[in-house]
Amino acid sequence: MTNEPGDRPVEHDPHPDYLPPRKPWAEPYWEALPDGKLLLQHCEQCNAFAYPPVDERCSVCKSPTSWREASGQARLWSWIVFHHEFFAGYPLPAPYTVLMLELAEGIRMLATLAGAEPADLACDAPMEFLSREVAPGVFIPGFAPA
Ligand SMILES: [Zn+2]
Repeated sequence: MTNEPGDRPVEHDPHPDYLPPRKPWAEPYWEALPDGKLLLQHCEQCNAFAYPPVDERCSVCKSPTSWREASGQARLWSWIVFHHEFFAGYPLPAPYTVLMLELAEGIRMLATLAGAEPADLACDAPMEFLSREVAPGVFIPGFAPA
């Protein structure tokens, strides 16, 4: 697997339908990805991190949140290889690999595998974040073996 966009032609869309809705309060998250940064919501009140950004308030205590850059370090929990297209227009050609990771910040997230093959993976292996440009101007989180 490479860090290149899929081999099917994809028209440029700043936020295509196959990604979660882009909320104004979550713009820092989306704007950080092209810079190779993963931002997490953080609650100053209860010290909880949250991912994905689905609510502007803390999912634990409902306090306002701020953004913190993640360390980019994670451990691999599990993975699955998608052999069929499940999301119309998704730019990664099948088969592609989706990872369940536990971030150093203590929360879990889903991301795509980058720069490696499923045969390279092992449970609890250290992984590193990298931003993936899957279509022109469209970035999603990826992780590669550390
Ligand atoms: Zn909280």
